[in-house]
Amino acid sequence: MMLMTKPVVTSLIDRLPPVRGRYRENAPLASITWFRVGGPAEVMFRPADRDDLVAFLGAKPAEVPVTVIGVGSNLLVRDGGVRGVVLRLGRGFAEIVAEDRDVVCGAAALDLNTAKVAQASGIGGLEFLCGVPGTIGGALRMNAGAYGKELESVLVEAEALDPGGRVHRLSREDFGFSYRYSAVPADWIFLGARLRGRPEAPETIARRMAEVQAARADSQPIRSRTGGSTFTNPPGEKAWQLIARAGCRGLRRGGAMVSEQHCNFLINTGNATAADLEELGEAVRARVRETCGVELEWEIRRIGEPAVPAGGRGRP
Ligand SMILES: Cc1cc2nc3c(=O)[nH]c(=O)nc-3n(C[C@H](O)[C@H](O)[C@H](O)COP(=O)(O)OP(=O)(O)OC[C@H]3O[C@@H](n4cnc5c(N)ncnc54)[C@H](O)[C@@H]3O)c2cc1C
Repeated sequence: MMLMTKPVVTSLIDRLPPVRGRYRENAPLASITWFRVGGPAEVMFRPADRDDLVAFLGAKPAEVPVTVIGVGSNLLVRDGGVRGVVLRLGRGFAEIVAEDRDVVCGAAALDLNTAKVAQASGIGGLEFLCGVPGTIGGALRMNAGAYGKELESVLVEAEALDPGGRVHRLSREDFGFSYRYSAVPADWIFLGARLRGRPEAPETIARRMAEVQAARADSQPIRSRTGGSTFTNPPGEKAWQLIARAGCRGLRRGGAMVSEQHCNFLINTGNATAADLEELGEAVRARVRETCGVELEWEIRRIGEPAVPAGGRGRP
């Protein structure tokens, strides 16, 4: 008689090293991103602290992909979710300390909280950060900026881990910054940064922060399910002007819509899928290409896999 042996299928979580932080299988991502769409993470890892993260990177199987996310204000997670480990830095990475005219902050610190600590400590020049709803990690990756200032202009140095868990100290020059871009390898994980401002009266800084926030509320759909600017501004042009010229304001696909208020923002009107949003973005790109002859580039980072069609993997 032939013995039928069942193939042993081990789930990813069983192949990961022991950690002090938390693993969660099939962790929802839609609820933690601004767009509120997308499938789950195969495994979500929240390291307890930096040593925990370093140990994890050194011990995990090399072929397991790791995707780090901040608070998902610049992310479109596709409907099929993200394979491998999604890394989310939490409290152990969110400290913010003022030192003389510097603010030293962890990668999970919110840009808004960083701006607030700078203001309370009389450190001027960081108030633009209160207009960016992300983390310092996301700001380093995206060279986040608002109202004429970018992270590049205040960064002294930062620390990052490479995929093997080795710590690197990076100067501003090492970042190779340009508009909404840093040239640090895409699989490196930022741990924190030292930002530098100038001495200034807290009341003056508070006034400028209030101006930044008022300007944002006037010009952006900040209470909507959105991912901020969808496309980068092409050299010498404004993406929103090209989108308006191509007649895309208010354009819809399923539950996704081009914002009427700021047409470089896409909005989940309530029941959009990630596919609706991505297809709408591609439709806008096609119209801008045809009407204006300009190729828009995605600023929003799209991660993960499309949904598998019902009934199987679809046709090859
Ligand atoms: C309403 C609204 C308004 C916005 N306005 C602005 C604006 O004025 N200016 C602006 O620049 N942006 C703006 N954005 C976009 C967004 O807030 C920024 O890009 C922000 O820097 C993203 O940070 P995050 O923590 O949300 O990163 P996520 O969206 O979670 O991730 C973005 C990218 O950063 C990477 N990343 C995150 N953390 C780390 C880390 N620790 N190490 C390495 N990589 C990391 C991710 O892998 C991903 O590639 C806006 C977004 C919204 C929703």
